[in-house]
Amino acid sequence: MKKLKGGCRCGQLRYEVEADKLPKTYACHCLDCQTWSGSAFSQNALVKTNAFAATGETARFELAGRSGFVSYQSACPKCFTRVFNTNSARPGLVGIRAGTFDESNKLELVAHIWTNRCQRGLRLDPETPCWQEGAPAEVLFSLLDLPMPS
Ligand SMILES: [Zn+2]
Ligand SMILES: [Zn+2]
Repeated sequence: MKKLKGGCRCGQLRYEVEADKLPKTYACHCLDCQTWSGSAFSQNALVKTNAFAATGETARFELAGRSGFVSYQSACPKCFTRVFNTNSARPGLVGIRAGTFDESNKLELVAHIWTNRCQRGLRLDPETPCWQEGAPAEVLFSLLDLPMPS
């Protein structure tokens, strides 16, 4: 097992993931993700909670979604980088903002969702599966090589 590392912009909040290789990632081009990231899309990885450990202080923001599930966003209280999150809809998994991995240049993108909000001028790889809105969870999880959360 390797220890994959990452963290916030200032280095105060760091994490390690025990895994054989970097997790696969997907991009979400929805308005919420654009607003939240201040960028064209969010890039996300999901890892098992028991393989994930963070050190440093976190500021936690709680957001109830339309579906009734609650998401908990953890950010660095010093530099305000949003680093990881959990969601009551997928217990046992941590979502990592993929750009926070130290080796983010080696990440693989396996899906694009909400491409109906994709910013003009951004060309997506035609080989990568795309959905105009959300992808069916079982399809997305299988592309990410993860079992469906129970
Ligand atoms: Zn920081
Ligand atoms: Zn989104």
